[in-house]
Amino acid sequence: MRLKFLSAITRPLLTSVVPMKHAGGGRRGPAPSGVLLRSEAHRMVAQLAAVAARQASQLIAFWLDVDRFRQINDTFGHASGDEVVAVLSRRLLAVLPPGAQCFRMGSDEFVALAALPSCSEAEWLARTMGTEIERPLSVQGVNIHLTVSIGLHAWTDGESASQFLARADRAMFVAKRMGGNRFEWAREDHRDGGPGAEQSKRELMVASMLHDALLHGGLALRYQPIVGADGRIEAVEALMSCSSGGVPVSPGEFIPVAEKIGLIDKLGEWSLMEGALCAARLLRQGMPTKVAINVSRAQLLSEAFLSALQGALLCANVPPQWIELELTESLFMEQSPTVQQNVQRIRETGVGLAIDDFGTGYSCLATLKDLPATKLKFDKAFIQCLPDDTRVLAIVRSMTDLAHFLGLVVVAEGVETDEQLRVCEDAGLDATQGYFHARPMPEGQLTAWLESHHHER
Ligand code: C2E
Ligand code: CA
Ligand code: CA
Repeated sequence: MRLKFLSAITRPLLTSVVPMKHAGGGRRGPAPSGVLLRSEAHRMVAQLAAVAARQASQLIAFWLDVDRFRQINDTFGHASGDEVVAVLSRRLLAVLPPGAQCFRMGSDEFVALAALPSCSEAEWLARTMGTEIERPLSVQGVNIHLTVSIGLHAWTDGESASQFLARADRAMFVAKRMGGNRFEWAREDHRDGGPGAEQSKRELMVASMLHDALLHGGLALRYQPIVGADGRIEAVEALMSCSSGGVPVSPGEFIPVAEKIGLIDKLGEWSLMEGALCAARLLRQGMPTKVAINVSRAQLLSEAFLSALQGALLCANVPPQWIELELTESLFMEQSPTVQQNVQRIRETGVGLAIDDFGTGYSCLATLKDLPATKLKFDKAFIQCLPDDTRVLAIVRSMTDLAHFLGLVVVAEGVETDEQLRVCEDAGLDATQGYFHARPMPEGQLTAWLESHHHER
């Protein structure tokens, strides 16, 4: 159920069934007074359930997990992340009915336990918590809007405290998988063997396909042209593809699994080397073309990243101006010293740096001027609103002007129609990428495409 519809709902009377616990009981860390520790949640379930039963109410567990919280830590650093958690804790405490308790279960996970007379009261409370979390919040001068996924479960006789909490946790996981920013009640099919188990089974399968592809050559790079407004080829983006036993898996699925199981470093090194070799071959074949290679956060967290990059340039014997690395905007703002150092050093090698997926994170215009980037790529989610969405168009136009002022090359991804192409060109973008020009293709096909494109001009 979506959380959005709060304004249409009026608050029912919430009944107080448990005396308010005095503030300060066992709290630690950045959460404000009143938020308790994880270990206390289990201990208090039985106590609260007994009180609820005496009052003819039900004990409800609300398992909350802030959506995309990792991006806050990645972008603004952990100290700011802690401040955000403290603000959210205060907001949650403020809307809990008297007698309810709130526990911090993990970095951005909370459990609220409240004795409530009906499920509709519980849903009302879930919506209220969602609205509280959504209220804008200023972090280092940037206004951010967070959302939350909530799993709800009503206490059933005979459940242990950990079974009770685990069911709310699983329901939260389902809410998250349905896109987040919503709440879900625990259901029978969320028990072991439900969607959570399905997901982990799929991850295990993808992991084994990845190992298999690495061993038997199922990995490949496909290249998608980025076409300049003047018709020249600005660059080609190298996109990884993986198949095992003839079955393809999309990078959207296998990259996160590779990050989880620690394979991303290997995959990243492989794509750096392959991309550099392709750039060298294109150069030798008289079609000098820049190859843009995607880099993930896990790679940049490694101190070995720069030697992998230099190794690839050296082995392929390609000058650095023919390589560009694509990093998401949140990575540029990452506070980790290793990441910052890697980003600086990449530029010192002479390799280009593109801000990828621009517009999807918490873009901070103030810091844009300090980034060592050479290119800005508007995310396809932006471009696909064009030409109809005039607000998006206004943003694309003014961001393009600003980026030009800062000396960046500006690219749109996800251009699928000639109308989108026209709007991008009118907005002054330097280059476009998308199915309208060509889909990602193997190197053999790319050279043929480049040749025919060259002759068409
Ligand atoms: P990305 O860097 O934003 O790459 C662009 C994605 O958009 C690609 O999806 C591409 O096939 C797709 N695309 C291109 N033109 C269009 C269009 O006109 N319409 C639509 N709807 N889609 C278009 P793909 O290949 O599935 O890759 C998904 C993501 O996986 C990439 O997003 C990138 O974040 C990641 N990825 C791909 N290769 C690598 C890699 O070698 N290393 C790392 N770390 N990440 C990679
Ligand atoms: Ca990219
Ligand atoms: Ca992108």
